[in-house]
Amino acid sequence: RRDPGHIRSATIDFIRRHLGVKLFLSYLVVIMVGAAVLALATRLTVPEAFNRHMGLGSGPMMMGQGNGTGKGMMSDLFISFQASFNEALLLALLAAGIAALLVGLLLSRGVVAPVRVLTSASRNIADGHYEERVQSASPDELGQLAYSFNQMAEKLEQVEAMRRQLIGDVSHELRTPLTAIKGSMEGLLDGVLPATPETYRQIHQEADRLARLVDDLQELSRVEAGAYLLDIRPVAISTLVNTTLMRFLSQAKGKKIELLSDLQEGIPPVLADQDRITQVLTNLVGNALQYSPEGSQVIILASRHLDEIQVSVVDAGIGIPPEHIPHLFSRFYRVDKSRSRQAGGGSGIGLTIARHLVEAHGGHIWAESGGEGQGSKFTFSLKVAG
Ligand code: ADP
Repeated sequence: RRDPGHIRSATIDFIRRHLGVKLFLSYLVVIMVGAAVLALATRLTVPEAFNRHMGLGSGPMMMGQGNGTGKGMMSDLFISFQASFNEALLLALLAAGIAALLVGLLLSRGVVAPVRVLTSASRNIADGHYEERVQSASPDELGQLAYSFNQMAEKLEQVEAMRRQLIGDVSHELRTPLTAIKGSMEGLLDGVLPATPETYRQIHQEADRLARLVDDLQELSRVEAGAYLLDIRPVAISTLVNTTLMRFLSQAKGKKIELLSDLQEGIPPVLADQDRITQVLTNLVGNALQYSPEGSQVIILASRHLDEIQVSVVDAGIGIPPEHIPHLFSRFYRVDKSRSRQAGGGSGIGLTIARHLVEAHGGHIWAESGGEGQGSKFTFSLKVAG
């Protein structure tokens, strides 16, 4: 049953829920206050103005005070004037009020319409339609809201595209070693492949590749999400370089590659998380050794450029054709997938991780190469400490 209390609370609820109604009511309040002030102001000023215009001196007290016929007539005249004035004022207020209400209705609709558009667009986005955008040419706050909304939608669309791409890439990367393992196992079961140590070694190699891929993916997701803490403090470049050199000495020796460093004299320390930057250097030197022929050189250089230190890893290896250079730091990007697979290369995640780590330090990382067979140079920058 609908008692008055229930109707009242339903009305309040309706008003609270509708922006258009709130705006309309606020216009109504403005109109009513304007009308009240107008009525009061005319009430206070009209007698005075009447007297002045009729040449009766100032003050409404003049009315009705005279005892002469002239004054009595004036008093009657004033009463009739006031009555007609009030009537005209009332009609004018009514007309103005209706006009203002109509305009108010239109205006509040004008404000509410773009809000409605935004609401339905955000619902569409929540349903997964990331291509949704809103049109708004107005330069006011609602226009800015529409602009930010579109930016947000664009970002979401990009993230969604990246997510799809990532799933596609990861499945593809997982499939290759899994297919190889499965194929070898089937060959063993059917007796097509001999159960020799070589077969087991190949299977083990593929399983190892799979394990590395999973490790890399885990590390990538950590750095991409920024889910690690950087312990940034002044570190000597020589510390970073020597740690890396030590790590690769035996590998370089095995491949008969000369691994050297050449640091600018008196080079100041950098601001860095030692472990993370060593990880970057490890990746660059690992790649350099991987893609260099026997008997060549790999050099780590470091020099100061204004308030930053640039560290480069230079090799005389297979080089990189110019069209591949812009993509090297994207995930899963490999210049020559089959070659890097045969050469025991990774999954193309290493440089992506390196880029994230360097950028987290506020630095940059880039690659240069004269082209195929011309060697490569990978450089990253870090801020000078102090
Ligand atoms: P990967 O683990 O495959 O080496 P990276 O992200 O470290 O992945 O490198 C991406 C690709 O960049 C490599 O697959 C290779 O094609 C190319 N690359 C990286 N370093 C070098 C280098 N020093 N010389 C030639 N090519 C390189």
